[in-house]
Amino acid sequence: MSEPHRAPEARLRTAVIGGGWAGMAAALGAHDAGHAVTVWEAARTWGGRARRLDLQLPHGAPVRLDNGQHILIGAYTDCLQLMQRVGLDPERLLLRLPLELRFADGGGIRFPRWPAPFDALAGIAGARGWRWADKLALARIALRWQWSRFQCPPHWSVAQLCQGLPARVMDELIEPLCVSALNTVAAESSGPVFLRVMRDAMFGPRHGSNLMLPRTDLSALFPDAAAHCLVQGGARLHPGVRIRHVAHDGRHWIVDGAPFERVILATGAHDAVHVVRASLPHVAPLQQQAMGHWSDGAAALPHAAIGTVYAWADGARLARPMLALRSAATAVDTLPAQFVFDRGQLGGPNGLLAFVVSACTGDRDTLQAQVMHQARRQLGLQLQAVGTVIEKRATLACTPGLQRPAPDIAPGLLACGDYVQGPYPSTLEGAVRSGLAVIR
Ligand SMILES: Cc1cc2nc3c(=O)[nH]c(=O)nc-3n(C[C@H](O)[C@H](O)[C@H](O)COP(=O)(O)OP(=O)(O)OC[C@H]3O[C@@H](n4cnc5c(N)ncnc54)[C@H](O)[C@@H]3O)c2cc1C
Repeated sequence: MSEPHRAPEARLRTAVIGGGWAGMAAALGAHDAGHAVTVWEAARTWGGRARRLDLQLPHGAPVRLDNGQHILIGAYTDCLQLMQRVGLDPERLLLRLPLELRFADGGGIRFPRWPAPFDALAGIAGARGWRWADKLALARIALRWQWSRFQCPPHWSVAQLCQGLPARVMDELIEPLCVSALNTVAAESSGPVFLRVMRDAMFGPRHGSNLMLPRTDLSALFPDAAAHCLVQGGARLHPGVRIRHVAHDGRHWIVDGAPFERVILATGAHDAVHVVRASLPHVAPLQQQAMGHWSDGAAALPHAAIGTVYAWADGARLARPMLALRSAATAVDTLPAQFVFDRGQLGGPNGLLAFVVSACTGDRDTLQAQVMHQARRQLGLQLQAVGTVIEKRATLACTPGLQRPAPDIAPGLLACGDYVQGPYPSTLEGAVRSGLAVIR
């Protein structure tokens, strides 16, 4: 990466605290704008909530997985561009598929490889197991969203937005889309945010609705290459170092003993609140006021958990790299997973499956046992557990009217991340856009 030419006074010393996708996007953005960048990351692995995790298969072989199974979509333009910016080829590292929500029993919806909106119309018309009344109701509501330019009152939920849709359309399309994009069930999800994602996916960039499934671990998908580019370009990177607080000496922000004109807090919301509150004794009263106000807002944000259950059986193979599952919770049975991925078809070892439980509740052992039972019931597979990861604060609970904190904490102290104000829900694209925006 070549060093851009800059007048010395325009070259800001920029500290980035947090090496997740938002932090790496911000660091690259600052570096490309000609600033001197230093990054600290508490963990030894880059990537934050989307990072590599090393586990073992039941027979002892090491396997490189992730702290949570992720999907990207074709509308994640900033993620895809940043991958290219650091020398990666998204089309090689991600398996691109037309939008498909197929269940193990063959039901569900699949878009053909056609331009929008014809792919959506053909997908709806061809939905398996749906009555014509289901298809017409969905087509009608999709047209209504388009006529209203994908806008709705700010306090509306997705359930309100979809009023009148038959139960089958809700169960087989809207609920799985909503829980995978917003990590929140339709009754509790923000209508405007859902519409924004739908607009970009269905009517945004070409192939915006495509699913893009990682064929490599999540650190290798962007953060590792970003770190490499930054080091090559002269940035200073400190993995394995947690920053407890920042200070202000009247002229500069001080991080880890060094002065900076600008500090970007790129941690998750919870850690940002800790750092900002621990910094209050080290700043002037006016800064204290702004920082106290900001941290109160960030501390009030609701979060939702995601569980990923990795399981293995010799010879296990799904009909497709990704299948939707019929999740349910009744008095007699809990079937918690909404999706299952065949990691064998995504560059991993054969027989390894990843089950995703969005908006998950309950403890690790119970979840794992429930998912094993669901695999037997719905896939006919007797699996052995490899590992279960529950990320308690996986994403914001994207509820209607949620007030997300602004990026400005105090002059020269900024926040970025998937929880900061922006049009996108807590996703990789939301994180990366926030990181780039804070530099702009
Ligand atoms: C299980 C799971 C599944 C998900 N699935 C999807 C999906 O399918 N698609 C999608 O788009 N999104 C998905 N997401 C959401 C996505 O991972 C996040 O939105 C995104 O990774 C957030 O990035 P971030 O950089 O804002 O924050 P983070 O990833 O949380 O990064 C913050 C970083 O700051 C570091 N840090 C914290 N405190 C300090 C400190 N004091 N000093 C130094 N460093 C510090 C942390 O270690 C961390 O690395 C999923 C998340 C999870 C957990």
